[in-house]
Amino acid sequence: MKLSIKNLSKTYSNGVQALKNVSLEIETGMFGLLGPNGAGKSSLMRTIATLQDADEGSITFDGINVLQQKEEVRKILGYLPQEFGVYPKVSAVDLLDHLAVLKGITNKSERKEVVAALLHKTNLYDVRKKHLSGYSGGMKQRFGIAQALLANPKLIIVDEPTAGLDPAERNRFHNLLSELGENTVVILSTHIVDDVKELCTDMAIINKGEVLLKGNPLEAIDSI
Ligand code: ADP
Ligand code: ADP
Repeated sequence: MKLSIKNLSKTYSNGVQALKNVSLEIETGMFGLLGPNGAGKSSLMRTIATLQDADEGSITFDGINVLQQKEEVRKILGYLPQEFGVYPKVSAVDLLDHLAVLKGITNKSERKEVVAALLHKTNLYDVRKKHLSGYSGGMKQRFGIAQALLANPKLIIVDEPTAGLDPAERNRFHNLLSELGENTVVILSTHIVDDVKELCTDMAIINKGEVLLKGNPLEAIDSI
């Protein structure tokens, strides 16, 4: 599987050119998109996630024309935005169960199994009955992963995941992420160089909407 981005450009209505002729080939595994605040990372992530349109260029993934076939993309996408909305006064286990119903898992015992496996995987099983509104930042991020994984995604986008996490939480989150890249295209957008060094097999650096550098993280980062 491969995500192909070709000559993507985007200018917002206020005149800010957030993406300038961006081209990237992203293969199965963990890909790091590294850049400072305002570089255009979220603009690119939101475009891939079908949440906003580009002015020019194309994106394809696994035979899907991403900019045109939005419904198809949403079926295979796991998206973790920087902040994913309000956290309701509902427990993790209940929300995952509801989401599993929406996903079409109608058999109750099958659903229970799927949900329990996700809660174990994300280390949230012991706090599964707590309201999400009371979760810490790290717990919320891990819940985001559980939610994203429920859809069995082929493409996962993670936007600035470790911002505001303490070192222990960051480690836990890293371990979780590194398992995801085995048969999925995972894009990790971050301004933290060490996140990319530790996790990614391939990367690009973006600044002011332009791709400055592509390659293997250890070589690319050391060449800066
Ligand atoms: P659109 O231009 O596509 O209608 P919005 O203006 O509604 O998009 O903004 C989409 C998202 O981008 C919102 O989360 C908003 O807070 C954020 N946003 C809006 N303007 C800026 C800006 N100048 N810099 C960074 N983020 C912004
Ligand atoms: P990053 O994720 O790397 O911080 P963004 O994609 O959020 O970068 O922002 C890139 C540039 O586009 C910034 O100058 C930002 O202020 C601007 N921007 C982002 N979203 C919007 C928006 N919805 N409307 C107007 N400008 C925006």
